[in-house]
Parts: sequence; structure tokens; C-alpha cells
Amino acid sequence: GPSFEETMQTRKEYLTPALLTYYKNPIMIVDGKQQYLFDHEGNRYLDMFAGIVTVSVGHCHPTVTKAAIDQMNRLQHTTTIYLHPVIGEFGKKLAETFPKESNLKVVYFVNSGSEANDLAVMMARAYTGNFDFISLRNGYHGASGNSASLTALHTWKYPVPSDFGIKHTLNPDPYRGPFKSSDPEAGKKYAWHLKNLIEHSSPGAVAGFIAESIQGIGGTVELADGFLKEAYDIIRAHGGLCIADEVQTGFGRTGTNFWGFQNYGVTPDIVTMAKGIGNGAPLAAVVTTPEIAKTLSKRIHFNTYGGNPVSCAMGSAVLDVIRDEKIQQNAHDVGSIIKDGLNDLKKKYKVIGDVRGHGLMLGVELVRDHETLEPANTETAHVFEKAKEMGVLVGKGGLYGNCLRIKPPMCVTKEDAKFFLDVMDRSLASL
Ligand code: PMP
Repeated sequence: GPSFEETMQTRKEYLTPALLTYYKNPIMIVDGKQQYLFDHEGNRYLDMFAGIVTVSVGHCHPTVTKAAIDQMNRLQHTTTIYLHPVIGEFGKKLAETFPKESNLKVVYFVNSGSEANDLAVMMARAYTGNFDFISLRNGYHGASGNSASLTALHTWKYPVPSDFGIKHTLNPDPYRGPFKSSDPEAGKKYAWHLKNLIEHSSPGAVAGFIAESIQGIGGTVELADGFLKEAYDIIRAHGGLCIADEVQTGFGRTGTNFWGFQNYGVTPDIVTMAKGIGNGAPLAAVVTTPEIAKTLSKRIHFNTYGGNPVSCAMGSAVLDVIRDEKIQQNAHDVGSIIKDGLNDLKKKYKVIGDVRGHGLMLGVELVRDHETLEPANTETAHVFEKAKEMGVLVGKGGLYGNCLRIKPPMCVTKEDAKFFLDVMDRSLASL
């Protein structure tokens, strides 16, 4: 295949200059196995970012690979105008991951998180007859149509007006926001802002509200305690539907529950998912209740690749692996070890301002001052580069680029956790 230099050159010449490329000296990844990635020179990396939180059960997992190959050898595409056994079977398995009492059981297959959120907005508007929509500042929900409008991170905003009917409320961030985690009323106070926004800038009725239960791209930001429950009540009182964006938090990643929203005592009306669902297959879905789905049945829902047999076979295999290999329990156990280790490092290095997240959805925010919270962005970039030099790939994000994001394939082991923490220690020591 093309060399590293040729690949750099073609990327520069033929691909969009807007592409983000990690590292001062970019790496070319050519192989993946479980939680490890290998570059063109054969160097091994512990992958603590999973292709942006997507490779849920491990790179090239044999069960998932076999499911894809077997399906590819039989039938690759027809669309949903014909029956296909795998699509319905996978839909049923997916529906069964939701609590029975939620009644979340009707599945729409699409191909990406953006498409899923696009559809969720249309669904909520069609069902309620309302137009206004609310998302959280610092949230990421996609890069196309409605989903780009829901996204409220300035680096991801296109310089054209697009937020029609979509408003962004105060981000309930108990670390950076005005109401801190030490305030037991913080969740209520952030929810008041949401209520205020609806009452003053909407006609009093909304179509819906969307939130990640832990903000991913925004820097692994946990929402203030109690906020989601209050927000759901306010939205419902104003006629809207509540949507959980589980693109990053789903499929057992938070360790304690299969879905992120379950950690906060809420039941959404619509759930969107992507990334971890297919271990890398272009697969995503929207799941809702039969009642909401009925509204949309007045129109045809169609998506050429949605419900593709190969993607569905892979998604089905992912669910089997999560169950058979106790992946969620592993996310909990290894995640706890990593979080404890990061909290120990916080005691050792003043530059660590905050350690947060659950299971294998973790983040570290670096600051220069614990009072002003001045973002330590160059320090973060340094740690990020050093870790790579020592064989560990992590993610970087947050509004100020001062958050390290730790979201590995969920098959990482306790030994990997030890190695990772050692590399973090040495990277921080080199500051
Ligand atoms: N929602 C969340 C929470 C995401 O993190 C992302 C992708 N980073 C999306 C939606 C959009 O997904 P996609 O890139 O597959 O369109």
C-alpha cells in the first residue's frame, strides 16, 4: 500500500483541510487487535480512545468479524423494501436492552449519530406539533441538519445561520458553571434557567429537549446532580418530548447500567444511539415508544443503508459479546481502577483540576489555578503528546482543549489500567 509520506501527501492534497489530525507528528494506524492499535512501523499503542468511543468490544473482535464476513458472503444489501431476517432479529435484541416499563421498543435504523438525532428532532416535532427545541450548551449531537443545530460547541459551528427553532440552555456543569457540585440545589438552579428560556424565548411550548447524560466531546462533563430529572419534568410540562443522546454513553460504557440515562432516574421518550452499537460498523438507531412511532407512520420512513444486513449482523454480534464476555461489568471494574488511579494523580499533580465520569467514560480536566480554573491547554497538549510517545492514545477535548478523554474499547484489562496510569504519571511528571 501507499507509504506514510504518500498517505500524508494525498490527505493534504485531496481531503478537506478542515479535517482534524491528532498529534504534531501524525500516526498512521494500519492494524487493530482488541484494545491495541499498530502503526505502519509496527509500534503498538494502548488505545484509550476507541476511534472516538466507537470500538466498544475491541478492534477486529473475532465474533463481530465473523458475523460481518458470513453476512457479506450471503447478502450485502437490499434495503428494507424486502424482509430480511437479521434486521428484525437485531431490532428485537436492541429493544430488549431497555427497561420493560419504559416501553421503548420501536427501532429506526440509520447510519450515524447525526442522522439519528436529525430524525429524533423531526419525530418530536411531528408528534407534538410544536417547533422549538432545546439542547445544552457544550453538547455535541452531530454535524448535519438538525443535529448540527443541536450542537452547541463553537469549534463545531458552521459560519452560517442554522439554528432555526433550536435554543441552547445554560450548561449544567458543576465544575465550571456558576452552581458548583458542593451546592445541593445546583441541579434545580440549572433547570430554572431552562424553564426561564422556554418561558421567555419560546411560545411556551416546546417540541423537545435533548441531552447526553455525560457530555462527551465537550470534555466528559457530568451534569449537575438532579438536573436531568428536573429538566425532563419542565419539558414535559411544556408539551415536549425528552430525548437521550446515548451515542457515547450507551452499550454499558458507564458500567453501572446499559444506558446512561438509567444512572439518573429518568425515562426518555426517544433514545438515539450510534458509535458503540456496531463496534465500528456504520450503524445507528433511534428507539421510541409505539405511540410516538405511530405518529410518524402517516409518512414513509426510508433510509437506503439503514438496516443494512451487514451492519445489523455486526450490531447483533456486539450485543452477544457484551453479554457473553461481561463487558459492562468489566467497564465498571476497570473503570473504577482507572478513576481511583487518576484521583491519586490529582493529589500528586496540582495541574489536575477535575477527574470525572463513570465506568470507561472518563475525563481529566487540567487547570493552572484551582480558583480561576484557567485552562491548562498547552499542558494538556503536552501530556497528550507524551502519552502517545510512551504508547498510549487518549482523546483531547473540551471547550478550551484542556480535557483528556479516556474511553477505551471496553475489553481493557486491569494490567492495561496499570500501564495507562503509569504512563499518565510519567507524562504529568515531564511537565
Ligand atoms: N452525539 C454524540 C454524543 C456524539 O459524540 C456524536 C459523534 N461524536 C454524535 C452524536 C454524532 O455522531 P456521528 O459522528 O456518527 O454523526
